[in-house]
Amino acid sequence: MRTDEPRRGADHNVMREVNRSLVLALVKEGGPVSRASIARSTTLAKPTVSAIVDELIAEGLVREIGPGSTAVSGGRPPILLEFNARSLLVVGVHIGARRTTIAIGDATGEEVARRELPTPKDQTPAVVLAQVAAEAKDAIAGAGLPGAKIAAVGAVLPGLTDFHTGICLLAPNLGWRDVPVRDLLAAALDDAPVYVHNAGQAAAVAENLEGAGERVGDLALLYTGTGLSAGVLSDGRVFHGVGGTAGEIGHNAVPGNTEPCNCGKVGCLETVASGPAIVRAARRAGLDGYDARDVTAAARAGDPVARQVIAEVGEHLGLAASWLINAYNPALVVVGGGLAAIGELLMAPLRAAAAKHALAPALRGVEIRASKLGADAEVRGAVLLALQHSETYYRVVFRA
Ligand SMILES: [Zn+2]
Repeated sequence: MRTDEPRRGADHNVMREVNRSLVLALVKEGGPVSRASIARSTTLAKPTVSAIVDELIAEGLVREIGPGSTAVSGGRPPILLEFNARSLLVVGVHIGARRTTIAIGDATGEEVARRELPTPKDQTPAVVLAQVAAEAKDAIAGAGLPGAKIAAVGAVLPGLTDFHTGICLLAPNLGWRDVPVRDLLAAALDDAPVYVHNAGQAAAVAENLEGAGERVGDLALLYTGTGLSAGVLSDGRVFHGVGGTAGEIGHNAVPGNTEPCNCGKVGCLETVASGPAIVRAARRAGLDGYDARDVTAAARAGDPVARQVIAEVGEHLGLAASWLINAYNPALVVVGGGLAAIGELLMAPLRAAAAKHALAPALRGVEIRASKLGADAEVRGAVLLALQHSETYYRVVFRA
């Protein structure tokens, strides 16, 4: 019936998209493969496979690499296909309080170029983002991927971000509030899709895929540095929440704590579990004029006062870890951000406090590890998030 046609048309388009992504995934993950073996594994008709492959070849995503060694039938060996990783590129941008890093990756996420610059000071967000975009374009031009187009951009910021709108809600270290990062970067980068995340989310994805996470899908990363936040992954994907602020545990109040916080409230966890918290605790303990690095160095040299200061902050971070463990029941908690580099002097009291505060059933089987990627986690996360978002993602559910 004619009235059915629009709906059938829509279904047809969806099927086409699904088939296309199936074929592309097979070439990408299982290549080199022949058209016939794609047809066998997908149970798609050979002409359907051929039409899709022709389209992918025309777009440069797939290329023919010549005949295979033998044919099963004893006939002519089939032409093999492989994914062309250099046909697309992704841009990862991490704007830190002091330094900005831009990494260009190919369609597998392998880095082909990187730029680092001091984060421009005393400039409007629009000027900073325009400089970042210009630097990214320059890096792309020098990366030697002629014809490759930007599949996606991952932009990572030190503060509150709303993934859904692409707005940086608040980044006190940059002095940014309600900055439309997605729209500004997209306008400067050929209207490529831009995905905005905070540093904790990016570090969680990077550690999961390339660092301490070892690809466990349910992972929580405690991001500690100037402030404290968390990136939570569910089945390998960032858990955002409706306004994009899921994981901002640094501003949960600690009973009895009266320290004023940058957010305007009093007694927030990050005032006792962060880099500045180490400096304040050191000052209270008589270590005047010490920054967090000085305290760490003194603790490593065996200074009992400095060790106690680090242990105290570690205990507060352990309390934060217990919140994550109780709330999300992850398989793994990774401690990332600047403070992770302190190592066991921080991690041992952190683990002990987490074990003390978390519910026993929630804690069962949970591991707590320090970051492996260190200062590289944020920009790698930016690249990997761009890649994740650029890949069409279908979940096929079979019902009996
Ligand atoms: Zn606060």
